[in-house]
Amino acid sequence: MSRGAGPVIAPGGTIGIFGGGQLGRMIALAARQLGYGVVVLDPDVGAPARGVADRMIHASFEDTAAARQLAEASDVVTYEFENVPEATVRAIEGRAPVRPDATLLGVTQDRVREHAFLHAHGIPTAPGCPVRTPEELAAALARFGTPSRLKSARGGYDGGGQHRIRNAAEGDAASAVLDGRLWLFERDVPFVCEVSVIVARGVDGAIRTFPVFENTHADGILRLTRAPAAVPPALAARAEAIARTLAEAFALVGTLTVECFVTADDVLVNELAPRVHNSGHLTVEACATSQFEQHVRAVCGLPLGDTALRCPAAMVNLLGTVERRRARLLGADIALGLPDVHLHLYGKASVRPRRKMGHVTALGPTLAEAVARAEHAASGLTFE
Ligand code: AMP
Repeated sequence: MSRGAGPVIAPGGTIGIFGGGQLGRMIALAARQLGYGVVVLDPDVGAPARGVADRMIHASFEDTAAARQLAEASDVVTYEFENVPEATVRAIEGRAPVRPDATLLGVTQDRVREHAFLHAHGIPTAPGCPVRTPEELAAALARFGTPSRLKSARGGYDGGGQHRIRNAAEGDAASAVLDGRLWLFERDVPFVCEVSVIVARGVDGAIRTFPVFENTHADGILRLTRAPAAVPPALAARAEAIARTLAEAFALVGTLTVECFVTADDVLVNELAPRVHNSGHLTVEACATSQFEQHVRAVCGLPLGDTALRCPAAMVNLLGTVERRRARLLGADIALGLPDVHLHLYGKASVRPRRKMGHVTALGPTLAEAVARAEHAASGLTFE
């Protein structure tokens, strides 16, 4: 039975989390710091949140009976990633509040719905349109041209489910990708940089945005985040205003991440994530309140914390490069000898190429110094 009838879920209550990956683990750590109990549902017995949560429910995200167990053990339920089926979340409505709610989840797990929602609120995206058939693809190519890409409407993550179309010849070949499902055709944006804005909205409607972070991707995966972002103040303000508009439009309770392309004179939204985000990891050391604590505050009806950046900061992801069942990290002794370098490991037993194993955050007196420290530290760390 839900005990979260009042607006505030006081410390001592229990937070349920769908997903026990690194984001679930770091939400759980923040929840425990504030005195909450934590129950995590994840199919993987080795999920990073094990050992941090009070209780793990090992079940698939499609398992509505297990989801009900999660809800019954929790005062509020949240999630660490957007691919929890909307039906699973709908199945627990009325048993415990789900924050953010199923509507936001549903919109953000479908790129086509997401674009339609953004356009309905006057927020620009890369030019493009939904396509399902080779004829629709041909029409999109004729209308928008190349370079462009096809993104699967559902299920894409870390650059997965994307096919680039660099020229007309690749355009002809691209229809082989079409599988009867819906895809989003997108023209490439000549962006100057990519940024993200993480916004939190409380039960009482208060909104706080974190400073704008600048992100560099490699192979579709985030590699480096820098704060503050080197974008003109007017464009940073525009990105923040978009995040606020969306938080209001969704009546968000919790955290929403808005990933944007910054062009010479505009901000276009690339993608929304209804959750804390990899680009916000540096908030742990660099901001007055971390994104994880902010998320816990928001979903529990507590006041939101100050999001100010205390000093320049950089975060580098540590990705696996080899395949090993029992991974060990080499080089921590050197990395941690550098000033203001902080190492976070996610407790994943096995390593695989491109798997997110941990990250390094460095602070510095200048942004250049913070980036140099983070890069130096990360370059000496390997999983074997
Ligand atoms: P996504 O999975 O949509 O976040 O895409 C992963 C990365 O691919 C983005 O962070 C960009 O670096 C790149 N990308 C995606 N869509 C576009 C686009 N329309 N134009 C240029 N680059 C893009």
